[in-house]
Amino acid sequence: MKICPLEISRGLFLTIKRTVQMFNNSKFLLFLLLGISLIGCKSSQQWEGQGPIQIVPTESKPIYIQAKKTFDVGSGIYLSNEFEGARLNDAILVNDTLIQVFISPENEPINPSPWYAFKIWSGEEKAIRLKFTYSENGFHRYYPKISKDGQTFSNFDSSSYFPDTIELQNGATRAQSAEVRLNISPDTLWIAGQDLVGTKHVDVWKQELLRHSFVSKTKIGKSTQGRDLEVLKIGESDDSRMVMAISMQHPPEIPGFLALKGFVETICGDTRLARKFREKYNTYVMPMMNPDGVANGHWRHNAGGIDTNRDWVNLNQPETKALTDFMKRKEAESGGEFFFAADFHATWEDIFYTMNEELEGNSPGLVPKIIKASSRKIKGYHPNIRPGEGNQRGVTSSSYFFFEHGAESMTFEVGDNTPRELIRKKGELTAKFLMKFLLKNKSA
Ligand SMILES: [Zn+2]
Repeated sequence: MKICPLEISRGLFLTIKRTVQMFNNSKFLLFLLLGISLIGCKSSQQWEGQGPIQIVPTESKPIYIQAKKTFDVGSGIYLSNEFEGARLNDAILVNDTLIQVFISPENEPINPSPWYAFKIWSGEEKAIRLKFTYSENGFHRYYPKISKDGQTFSNFDSSSYFPDTIELQNGATRAQSAEVRLNISPDTLWIAGQDLVGTKHVDVWKQELLRHSFVSKTKIGKSTQGRDLEVLKIGESDDSRMVMAISMQHPPEIPGFLALKGFVETICGDTRLARKFREKYNTYVMPMMNPDGVANGHWRHNAGGIDTNRDWVNLNQPETKALTDFMKRKEAESGGEFFFAADFHATWEDIFYTMNEELEGNSPGLVPKIIKASSRKIKGYHPNIRPGEGNQRGVTSSSYFFFEHGAESMTFEVGDNTPRELIRKKGELTAKFLMKFLLKNKSA
């Protein structure tokens, strides 16, 4: 096993921190010892060879507020974005049967993942075509879903879906825009980029979990627009051993939330394994990391116009600040440790971003072991694991969890179009093997 100077420094710092916490809470002594550990680190040749930590600015920026309205496009056809999570910036009747919808982001530059969600209806039954168009940096990422009640969504039939696909220089293909054919009527239809999961939907799920005697919730702060930031606690341990799971930093990444749901419900399960785990470990969950972004139908950013998953070093945004303060407080109060942390996202395909496997946290080897064991239970499934290459702290949540708390961490990405049963199964299996391996962990 190779140990890097940063790892020694981090390990040294954590040991010193715990020692200090055991005796008293003198901040001065803590900073003095931090200084010594950094000097120790600086004296290593390898450490000096590493570049500076890549930090991007994360101070709040203006966002363009989406005008909430019903678009009367003519011919008795109406579209609306007047509901939570909606995004529809313009709609125009091009001819009798073709409606062009226009989708733009909350601000730019932005990772191009154009989220859309709107309602459509008409005075009388009509067969129409809907053309999705985007601002310059956008393209058609999300396969459209349709719903009759705004609750249950299904994919558009592939025979009524026409993406305008182009080939990129690297050989990959992208749809610049897309058209769907559908029948509209006075009965409202909802059209969205993913199964619509809003803050209320997540609240209802939290209420269901709170029926368990071993689940409780804590308010840890407020978002820029005043929405509560909340963490669930699952377990009856004394916090000496903890686990963290988060989702929905990026609003449209609902498949990631569905994986977290399977993960959390397994830890809440009425199984011998889950009961034993809850006695020994407390699992903290923040399922709604970006409530403002979700409520406003953002492509990616929060109400501060920032990608919160680039703010885990700067901590300029209320969401990252609240959760990092919470985790630090938990450790300080209990003297306990976070052994594992996962941040659930969605992207083009399933992938696990893990830490450099040469780095060791509080339970070395745990993450690759969980991914391999859980993947073996899914027939024909070969996980795509992308371990980090460097050994310096990055700006994402998983890097924060590992470097600041020693939690073995990963970014758990599921594909935009991964079948929902498989997403759930992956969440469940991850929880099952996490509980199994952590309970066997002698050092914990
Ligand atoms: Zn993401």
